[in-house]
This record gives sequence, structure tokens and C-alpha cells, in this order.
Amino acid sequence: MSTAVEPQEIILNGISASPGICIGKAYLVDHEGVDIVKRYQIIDDTALQNETTRFKKAVKQAKDELYAIIKGTSEDLQEHADILETQVVLLEDKMLYGRTIETIKKEKINAEWALKKVVSKVSSMFQDITDTYLKDRATDIVHVTDRIMRNLMGAEPVNIAEIDKRVILIARDLSPAETSQINLERIMGFVTMLGGVTSHTSIIARTLGIPAVQGIEEATRLIQNDDIIIVDGSGGNVFIHPSEATLMEYVERQIRFESYRADIARDSQRAARTTDGHRVKVMGNIEQPEQVVTVMDNGGDGVGLFRTEFQYLASPDFPGEEELFENYKDVLDVMQDQPVTIRTLDINGDKALMRNSGVTEINPALGLRAIRYCLKRPDVFKTQLKAILRAAVYGEVRLLLPMLATYDELMVAKSLIEDAIQCLENEDKEYNRNVPLGVMIEVPSLAMMADVIAREVDFFSIGTNDLIQYSMAVDRGNREVAYLYNPLHPAILRTLKFVSDAAKKEGIQLFMCGEMAGDPFSLPVLLGLGLDELSMNPQSIPVMKNMIRSIGMADAEKFLQKVLEQTTCQAVNDLIQKEYGEIISATIYPK
Ligand code: PEP
Ligand code: MG
Repeated sequence: MSTAVEPQEIILNGISASPGICIGKAYLVDHEGVDIVKRYQIIDDTALQNETTRFKKAVKQAKDELYAIIKGTSEDLQEHADILETQVVLLEDKMLYGRTIETIKKEKINAEWALKKVVSKVSSMFQDITDTYLKDRATDIVHVTDRIMRNLMGAEPVNIAEIDKRVILIARDLSPAETSQINLERIMGFVTMLGGVTSHTSIIARTLGIPAVQGIEEATRLIQNDDIIIVDGSGGNVFIHPSEATLMEYVERQIRFESYRADIARDSQRAARTTDGHRVKVMGNIEQPEQVVTVMDNGGDGVGLFRTEFQYLASPDFPGEEELFENYKDVLDVMQDQPVTIRTLDINGDKALMRNSGVTEINPALGLRAIRYCLKRPDVFKTQLKAILRAAVYGEVRLLLPMLATYDELMVAKSLIEDAIQCLENEDKEYNRNVPLGVMIEVPSLAMMADVIAREVDFFSIGTNDLIQYSMAVDRGNREVAYLYNPLHPAILRTLKFVSDAAKKEGIQLFMCGEMAGDPFSLPVLLGLGLDELSMNPQSIPVMKNMIRSIGMADAEKFLQKVLEQTTCQAVNDLIQKEYGEIISATIYPK
């Protein structure tokens, strides 16, 4: 009699992207199609001939698909169509087409395997090349290969919004736009190979309140569809085929986590004051209008950051003034007299448009992103400004401009706001012209100009996610350099102090809406800096309010002085641990 062998438990460690625990079946979303390739040897000659024919058919189908897309591409996206034309040529290029057929025949292997082999060789040839034209061609090869591979495997690209089982997603990568389509009734959590704590994908996961772990390189290789897995978003671990004992332990942890969350959410409806009576407003960041309910449920004192770009990312066309106005008004209706900080469009960077705008940037994070894009497209910018000014009649709106790098940009943006006001006057529409204006402090050059900029605006909102990325020269989503990405680096703390002093001197309000604002470990420092408001993903509001109630403002100010004398992250960490370690462990999520 044979006994079935239970699969061994495997534990993978990654980056904790969103806290909480979920247990369920894995569902692989393999965009690229190339990661999971069936490999088999073929001996029979007819079968070998078949493989060549299959490959040729898949290429022909890819060509037809590309022509259909090119035909449907509008004139203003001509550059995009040109890229696709290049891909059609590549489909028949000897390097890819000829060599794959050759490899099938010579090595007697199936078409998918042969294609994968050829592409890996070609990609490694391109790896050390710095010429941007050639680099772009390498990307084209990858896209073309994905298309052929999909046709070979008969795989449809997965549409996350259409998944109809309760599952945990496993993907190489999820774009912020895809993540924002996650249906909470179906998707319990996710695991990705790429990404980091402040990637927009993990920010959205935290807002949705679903556990997520990122940066697990072996995820799509080791996890199979329908495997039972545990995602421990708080600890950054994933368990494949968990043992009975692990399962029991994590079911208990899950119950503890959820009941703790419910407990502190109740207390969170009250204002948060430090032990010496100083009120700190704790606000929520949202990406979609409907998330405003989560801000209310978690006791948020308003919306400190409304990332409006997600409305633009999900649709092929830009939304019009009326649609934007209705969306903003919906948020204001729920928040009533609490402030709602509407940030103008921050597209590109890692939030590329679904429809390629025709511009391919080598370095999108340093490219035509946010205000830079808006100043280049004043029509798009003014449409949004008009919608915001009109919505401001219905609540307490603040207008926030992202990613400014210079004083000049602020001046141009201000003149466009005046233009938008003039348009509304001419069109005889109802609007509010007294909307407080603020800028995100997230580019180091603007931080260094904070004293001058403070004279021109009503508030600052510090965007630490980008401020750290740009100050430390680390891509916020790159796991390899994540060790440098530390909000408590002395260089960042000095910048924050400079910005805070500038705001206090001019008597303007000082807010923070980057992820640091919701980090319990950083709270003593933030209180010491005298921030008026902290804005974070709504799920973090209860924890932060809870912790504010355990710290004295005067103590935090004195503590900051000591922190600023330190020269390394480690020294800052040790100091926080020594003075506030107990309070922090008592208030953060239970492990
Ligand atoms: C930031 O950069 O800190 C920020 C809040 O903006 P985003 O994360 O949308 O870039
Ligand atoms: Mg930013």
C-alpha cells in the first residue's frame, strides 16, 4: 500500500507591503507569459514539424494582432503606432524568428522552450548596451516574445477585475492601475516578485486593507495555481503548503489581528491629543472617491491626500470637467466640513497611462511626471483645476500641487489657476476662489527653497516617498537598493527640519502625506518636528492616533534635538528604540 507524500512546507521571505494575514488558494497572474514555460523534448519527426508550424502560426497571429492595433491607433498616438511597426518587423527578424526555428530543429525541443532560449540569449547580448535606441529594441523584443508566447500557449492575458473566485494573487508585478481594480470580495491578498514598501502598488494594498508581500523572487516559480498559501503581510512572509501546526498558528494570529483592528478603530473616532494636550490631526490618503468611507470608518480627521490620477489611469480617455467635478463632489459630500486635500494629476513615473502617450522615457521617475506633465498640457491641467474650484463650493477643499522642483513652476501653475478662474467667470459657473494652495515637498530642490516657497503658499505637504527616493537616489520600488531607503536617515531628517523651520517662520501649515506619516516608529520624530497634520493610508489611522495619545509633545521636541545630532540611521534607530521602544511595541499591530 502506498501513502501519499504531503508536500513540504516552504517559507519565503520578502518585504512587508501591507499588514494582515490571509490564508487561501493561490492564483497565478502571469502577465509576461514567459515565466512559466512548458519544456519537452521531441523525438518524432512529424511532431517536430508540428512544432515549427505551431511557432509560425503563433507569429502570424501576433502580426495580425499588431496590425489590428496599429489600424485602431489615433493620429495623435502615431509614435505608439511606429513602435508597433518596429515590432512587426522584429517578428520576422532572423535573430528571433530564424533562430527559434533553428533551435526547435537542432535541439529537438518544443516551440515555447526554443523561443525562451533564444530570447534569453538575445536579452543577455543587450544587457550591457547603453545606447538607448538599442535598449528600446530589447524591450520591443520582450514584448513581441510575450505576444508570440501567449499565442503559443493559448493564454489570454488575465483581467484582474474579472477573477471570480476567492483567491490570493501571485504575480511577477502588478501595476498600480491593476491593483486599484482589485475586487475585495474576491482577492484576499497578493504576492509579487517586484516592488517595495513605498511602491504605489503596496500603498494601494494598504489602503484596501489587504495583506501583501512583495519582493519574493521565487514566487511565480515555486507557487502553483491552487496551492494553499499563507500571506503574512505584517511579517513579510509567505508559506507554501503550510503544515498543520503553522496553519493553526496563523489562523489564531489572523483572529488576533482582526480583533485588535476592530478595537482601535472604535477609539479612533475621537480626536488624538498628545499626553500634554497638543492636537494632531490624523488624516487619510485616498486613490478613489469611494475610499473616503474607509477614512471615515477609521476615524480620519479629513483627507490629507486625494491622489486623483487613478481616474485617469483606468480609462483610455482623460475624464472631462463634469465627471471630475462629480467625483470630487462625492468625496466632499461624505466628508462634510472636514478638509479634503485634492492633489492635481501626478501621472507617469510608476503610474504610466494605460494608453501610451507616445512618449517613451528612459527614466520615467525623473521625467515628464506630475506638474511637469500638467504644465506641458495646460488644457488637461485647467480642466482639472476648474473641476476642483467648482467642487470647492461644497466643502473644505485644499489644492495641492505635486512634484514641483522650482519657484518658476509654482509661478506658472499659479497663473494657470488664475486662467481657470477666469474661464469659470466667463462661463458663469459657480466656484470658490478662496481655496488654500499648497505644494508637495518631495523634490530636494524645492525643499532647499522652502523658505522662499513658504511665502507663496498656504501650506506644505511633505511627500516623503519621493523626497527619500530623490534625495538618496534610490528607486522607491527597487528591492536591491531598499537598504538605502530609510526615512530616518540623518540626511532626510535634516531636510525635514529645514522645511519645518521655514514653514513655522512664515506661519504656514505643515503637513506630511508620504508613508513616513503613518509609520509608528517615526512618530516621535514627526511630533518633534511640529507637523500639524499626518496623512496616511486609512488603515493606519487608528494605530497612529493610539500612539499619539501616549507621547508628550514637549518631550518629542527635546528628543528631536538629540536625534538630529546623530550621524547614522542605526544611531537614530537605537535612540528611538531606547526612548520609545516600549510605547511602540505596545501600540503597533500584534505579531
Ligand atoms: C510622496 O511622494 O510621498 C507622495 C505622497 O506622493 P506619491 O506617493 O503619490 O508619489
Ligand atoms: Mg510623490
